[in-house]
Amino acid sequence: MKKKRIYISEAHKGGRELFYIQEVFKDNWIATEGPNIVGFESDLENYLQEEVHVGALNSGTAALHLGLILLGVKSGDEVICQTMTFSASANPIVYLGATPIFIDSEVETLNMCPVALEKAIVHRILLGKKPKAIIAVHLYGMPFRVDEIRAISCKYEIPILEDSAEALGSSYKGKKCGTLGEIGILSFNGNKIITTSGGGVIVTKTLEQKSKAIFLATQARDEAPHYQHSQIGYNYRMSNICAGIGRGQMEVLDNHVILRREMHDFYVNLFENIDGVLVFNEPSADFFSNFWLTAILVDETKNGGITREILRAALEAENIESRPLWKPMHLQPVFEGYPYYGAKVAETLFENGLCLPSGSNLSDEDRERISKTIQVVFKKEIKNS
Ligand SMILES: *Cc1c(COP(=O)(O)O)cnc(C)c1O
Repeated sequence: MKKKRIYISEAHKGGRELFYIQEVFKDNWIATEGPNIVGFESDLENYLQEEVHVGALNSGTAALHLGLILLGVKSGDEVICQTMTFSASANPIVYLGATPIFIDSEVETLNMCPVALEKAIVHRILLGKKPKAIIAVHLYGMPFRVDEIRAISCKYEIPILEDSAEALGSSYKGKKCGTLGEIGILSFNGNKIITTSGGGVIVTKTLEQKSKAIFLATQARDEAPHYQHSQIGYNYRMSNICAGIGRGQMEVLDNHVILRREMHDFYVNLFENIDGVLVFNEPSADFFSNFWLTAILVDETKNGGITREILRAALEAENIESRPLWKPMHLQPVFEGYPYYGAKVAETLFENGLCLPSGSNLSDEDRERISKTIQVVFKKEIKNS
């Protein structure tokens, strides 16, 4: 019999989600409005601590789309985006008819390289167009270099749209990810640190911005007894049922962060005595990662020839899921030909990097299987060489 599959990241039930969902049915709030939406938004506002406003939407992608609209991005504009990320960071730029400008990563956080960012801005301005926004991402929960990126954002007066889809529970210098840009977004897709099955929020600094986002997310209905519209709207609001799941999940978020960080510690210990494998870690005490996923870099020249692909195949043979780091956007067929600034850092990370099972619901038995498989891969090689 095939062994149970171990996934990279799975939904992890908390306990009270069904209670909040039952309330929905009791009160017949089966809609995109209702008490769970209000409750979930306010749970998040309290959690994020800063003076922010949270608007619940049906995906993180929708939040990015509305975030760009709030920042005034229009057809023909240019928008800067980290190249190493999930495609959802960049797609909304194209939804709006704007042009993505991709930026390389730096090796410690895997996130946007401040040097490449400034080079790109200077060059785009020289070519005659100042980018309208900077989409910076906290990949795998690791905060990007917030001080450096913000200094550039201030210097050139280009706002940051903070893609914190993977980083709820992370912080930088004690401030929570999601609150570190002009506008932030979070995702509650099924594989994220907490889930609403599918969903996201936009995080704004003013109530006005939040109201505008919700207006656009609910078909842009003007105030009138009939349906009246003076601009194009979207159907992007979160369902009150999903928000109920979110409320239940908020009660276990802190615990999920602890458990994901324990998974990271597990890998740090596991690879401690294996040469040629780097487990990505926080660069300094300023960074606090939720370690949504633990990522490693495999250097076959230092470990006797074990490549990332050999390791991935060995895990797969044991029915253990692992995945290369995000393929950079400037290498994706769909984004071919868009400008890209940087060296080849993201390429190298993509070639040699691997995400390992990191869920908050992995058992001791799961960890045992992962540990054994990895040890066999590297020991075998030591024996043969
Ligand atoms: C998951 C994710 C998104 C999109 O969120 P959805 O809720 O799935 O639409 C955006 N950016 C990054 C970096 C993500 O990981």
